[in-house]
Amino acid sequence: MMRKSQTSNNSIKCPVLIVGGGLVGMAQALALAALAETGAGNIVLVDKVVFTRNDAARDLRSFAITAASRRMLARLGVWDKVAPYAQPVSKMLISDGELDQMVRPPLLELPTEDSSEDGKEAAAIVESHYLLAVLKARVKQDKRISVIAPDRVTGVERNGGIVNVTLEKNGSLSTRLVVAADGAKSSIRRMAGIKTTDWDYGQTGIVATIALDRPHKGRAIQHFLPAGPFAMLPLVGNSEYAHRGSLVWSEERREARRLMDLDEAGFLEALQLRLGHQFGEARMISGPQAFPLGMTLARDFVAPGIVVIGDAAHRLHPLAGQGANLGFKDVAALGDTLIEAQRVGEDFASLTVLERYQTWRRFDVVSNAMAMDGINRIFSNRISGLKQLRDVGLGLVDRFLPLKNLLTREAAGETGRVPALMRVGDV
Ligand SMILES: Cc1cc2nc3c(=O)[nH]c(=O)nc-3n(C[C@H](O)[C@H](O)[C@H](O)COP(=O)(O)OP(=O)(O)OC[C@H]3O[C@@H](n4cnc5c(N)ncnc54)[C@H](O)[C@@H]3O)c2cc1C
Repeated sequence: MMRKSQTSNNSIKCPVLIVGGGLVGMAQALALAALAETGAGNIVLVDKVVFTRNDAARDLRSFAITAASRRMLARLGVWDKVAPYAQPVSKMLISDGELDQMVRPPLLELPTEDSSEDGKEAAAIVESHYLLAVLKARVKQDKRISVIAPDRVTGVERNGGIVNVTLEKNGSLSTRLVVAADGAKSSIRRMAGIKTTDWDYGQTGIVATIALDRPHKGRAIQHFLPAGPFAMLPLVGNSEYAHRGSLVWSEERREARRLMDLDEAGFLEALQLRLGHQFGEARMISGPQAFPLGMTLARDFVAPGIVVIGDAAHRLHPLAGQGANLGFKDVAALGDTLIEAQRVGEDFASLTVLERYQTWRRFDVVSNAMAMDGINRIFSNRISGLKQLRDVGLGLVDRFLPLKNLLTREAAGETGRVPALMRVGDV
């Protein structure tokens, strides 16, 4: 589909071309739409998948959206439509133990960071397909954004300050800047010659949507089991199921394959063993789906005429639900950097400006990736000495308020330099 008066086989000119219309690419198009107001043409977004497609059956993931991401989505005109489908998190209960332990008392209770009376500042769980649908509707509405889909980029060539991009079906485009938001296997990153550091966790993330017998009261749970973390995130109820939850269940790959092959009764039995009985009996609503888990870190986030953001720059272990939130922080930081450069009369697409963005984001991304990796390694094993150490560690954190506050703010996306779109204030 091609929209907004663009015909095939002509060379379109645009200030910024965004490749990848996932959560991050769409948010970036909205955050940069102001650059289209300079008369240099629309922001163009290209995706290989049909843009009108409903993602409800395709992606069963749910995202823990931090207060900072939420503020950004509100400023982009997205959050008010997402809010009815967002379940605020009242508490995160973290425990570790063995699979056969009937009761796993929480080692650490993180209150969410909500300090407002109306719950506006709480982290919230949203199903991916709702967020994608609202973002798509908002992008389609914005006259400063043109969408080309389905199509893919087959070539990128830089010539002076211009990047010439060839599309498989719709001719060519010339732009000042290509933003790669095309996910962990980014072809733009590869075309730009940006190398990555990768490793495979040998784990699979199993996701599913379940119905619970008893109210979850907004509680999210994370059990660190020897094979990998098991999380149940609370979802808003609907007319069919009053109490719903979303699973993110990491398992060693072979065991995950066995679990995925079980019939529904067998799968639910294995699930109940991990979930425990605090929410009563669990029933299946949809899934399971499997995602291979690994880490991919781009060694550079920028190259002349190119920026990589979201999973194209960093794919993390999902144990702390930070992947999309880090991607949203990229969006807000790139928006701040480019729009400020344009405002003061700098060339927003110059390498000097892009490197400012890279310096801003690199430390945050690498430190988050290392923290997730370390936590996964420390918890996903059966070494008894380590278990005692981490139990003491988590117990101490629970009692030590300033550290707990720091951890909560880190989970809320409020540490480090905060971009304007994410700052606390009127939205
Ligand atoms: C099991 C699991 C649970 C997770 N839970 C959380 C969570 O709770 N909270 C959180 O913050 N994060 C979570 N994450 C991480 C999160 O899913 C990702 O960080 C996020 O989806 C990345 O979004 P993205 O837009 O960068 O990439 P993607 O979602 O991968 O989107 C890439 C887009 O690019 C398009 N595309 C790809 N190649 C091309 C091409 N060549 N040309 C054109 N278009 C192309 C695709 O069609 C797609 O639309 C989880 C991840 C997993 C695996």
